[in-house]
Amino acid sequence: MIVDVHLHLCNSMLFDEYDAAYLVSLMDEAGIDVGVILPVESPEIGADMQLTREAIAACRQFPDRLVSFCCVDARSWVSFDHPRDWTLERIRKMIERYVELGCIGFGEHKLALAFDDPRSLDLYRMCGEFSLPVLFHVDPIRNYDMAAVERVVAGMPGTDFIGHSQGVWEDLDRLQRLLTAYPNFYVDTSPTVGTGGNALRADPARSREFLEACADKVMFGTDAGTPGAALEMFHPKPYVEFFRGLGLTEATYDAVMGGNACRLLKIEGRGT
Ligand SMILES: [Zn+2]
Repeated sequence: MIVDVHLHLCNSMLFDEYDAAYLVSLMDEAGIDVGVILPVESPEIGADMQLTREAIAACRQFPDRLVSFCCVDARSWVSFDHPRDWTLERIRKMIERYVELGCIGFGEHKLALAFDDPRSLDLYRMCGEFSLPVLFHVDPIRNYDMAAVERVVAGMPGTDFIGHSQGVWEDLDRLQRLLTAYPNFYVDTSPTVGTGGNALRADPARSREFLEACADKVMFGTDAGTPGAALEMFHPKPYVEFFRGLGLTEATYDAVMGGNACRLLKIEGRGT
């Protein structure tokens, strides 16, 4: 079974055709059984915010094919009239409701803050309590930096983290060290074109070695539907074919393409 753990509902005025049905048609063409939709409820995504409630609605439209994460901006509800605890309680109730509605993870977490900003730490802790893995983006201005990521992952063993993007993939040796050292740290292979894809395409022999060594910690993801990108660049099919042609052992291929996602995200009874 193939699971794409990193999909977006484009939600852009420039790409009206990109709705849930279109996303599922891309999955069909690529042979992807189940897709995980990541909302991004922070302006750092660009002009077009992607809301959790829209992701949940898409899953209701295709309950056998789509599942959703939930997303809350850690900076929300800053109020001078109430203590921080009041804000956190509101966020907790919101996440609780998202879990009731079927959300199975948190993210894409993408804020122009240090990764270990206290507001984000509160959310990571909460996600651990709800058993929601946190999928996050890292670059020089958003959730910076990898030293902070390592401190958080090491200090918060009760929360699972899934890394994504250039900050995570820029150094394959460091990534392998982190995946090996921390049981609660995972990575997704997105984006198809760009850091995850480029890192794995650069040296197929090294990529095979990396994937075999970290077979239980890497999850297939494409970032298809990310807004603002040239959509054809993010068709998931060539990326599925890339993994098929990489010469992985059957066990590693199955784990990376879906087995790890099924285990971590408890995806059962879905797919074609
Ligand atoms: Zn993304």
